[in-house]
Amino acid sequence: MKRDLADVLHAAKPGAAGCFNTLNIDMALSVLDAAENLSRGVIVGIASRHFDDMRAGLRASAYLRAIEAAAVPAALHLDHATPEQFDMIREALDLGFTSIMIDGSHLPFDENVEITARVVELARRYGAGVEGELGAVAGEEGVADTGHDAPAALPYTDAAEARRFVEQTGVDALAIAVGTAHGLYRESPHISLDTIEAAANAVSIPLVMHGATGVGDIAIRGAVSRGIRKINFFSGLLQAGMDEVRACADATHNDYQAFLRACRASWQELVTTQILLYAGDTH
Ligand SMILES: [Zn+2]
Repeated sequence: MKRDLADVLHAAKPGAAGCFNTLNIDMALSVLDAAENLSRGVIVGIASRHFDDMRAGLRASAYLRAIEAAAVPAALHLDHATPEQFDMIREALDLGFTSIMIDGSHLPFDENVEITARVVELARRYGAGVEGELGAVAGEEGVADTGHDAPAALPYTDAAEARRFVEQTGVDALAIAVGTAHGLYRESPHISLDTIEAAANAVSIPLVMHGATGVGDIAIRGAVSRGIRKINFFSGLLQAGMDEVRACADATHNDYQAFLRACRASWQELVTTQILLYAGDTH
């Protein structure tokens, strides 16, 4: 069922919805199959840094057919579009994306507000939702091997600023800096639950946490219980795919189809675990 961002996030309550970036239709189908088996909504993402390389303009129609055929609410999301990628945002909306993330978090506050409000105004015309970001998340979206130390030195998102940002932009969801980073961690990051709780009290829209791969289950549950309603997960899917490649390192057969099937099974299993965790399910 094709839905916009706000609808999928609303349906996930009281837990958080998972947003999984994908590089091809096999990954996307694995995400949708996992969500469908659990009867949970899901967000299928394409990161702006992969958009051209994977030729999303050609693939989007297959993604949308798969989303429409799914028995659960699902959104097609453009992740981490930068202010310089306004044309890509328009193209994604024309293609039928139902959710856009505009990441102006590296800009001064007023400029972040301005570009985010512009994207909200455009997306409204398409009935799509918008996620903004306030307080930069370390690392680069879509790059797994960044090997972060826990980014404790980065400033967390300020609750009063978050309130002003939401009021001035009209975004449907807000990504905040709570101690996570994109990519894989060298050590477990420290998640600031107080930052999440303060922001959740300050705004009435869903809060988003990026960089969930490698964050411990207890920290994820704590983040959801304090008000995180959308969690972005991607690096783990790359890891799982490469594990399948490594498992074939000594293969003498040429059964590529079996390899693809193994990739899909491992992606689906991983996404299933994450969706259950975000839903607040303990088994
Ligand atoms: Zn991100």
